[in-house]
Amino acid sequence: MAVRKDSIMGLIAALVLIAAVVIYFARSGGKIEPPSKTTFNGVCLACKWEGQHDRYAGDMPPYKCHSCGERAMYMWRWCPSCKKRCVPVMEKRESGDWLPPAFPKCPKCGADVAPYDPDALEYMEDIPKPIETLPLPAWPFKE
Ligand SMILES: [Zn+2]
Ligand SMILES: [Zn+2]
Repeated sequence: MAVRKDSIMGLIAALVLIAAVVIYFARSGGKIEPPSKTTFNGVCLACKWEGQHDRYAGDMPPYKCHSCGERAMYMWRWCPSCKKRCVPVMEKRESGDWLPPAFPKCPKCGADVAPYDPDALEYMEDIPKPIETLPLPAWPFKE
């Protein structure tokens, strides 16, 4: 008799679990939502605010600064040749926005720049600390 009771309890637990999954999918419209917020390390060329920028779904670059509201928030890059972080040379797009080209270059030496990852650089012994920054480009950009 005890065995039978356990199996009924197990069946109920399974049904509850299935119901929870069905309700979850019904509520989410049957699809898994992408994360609504991602972050990157950036700097605002208008007010020079720097830090983690929150980027929301549908947000297009150049990103709006949390501090001053200008669309002048750009991602930091890393120049492996200068061993400094920088904002790369921009190009004007058809939209009129100034954005980094597909292969962004260092404003000082012209080398290809990499994404800036302070956590990874922290452990590289040949890189002077604190990490230095190349002069920021003048903003607003002029042709
Ligand atoms: Zn700003
Ligand atoms: Zn460089």
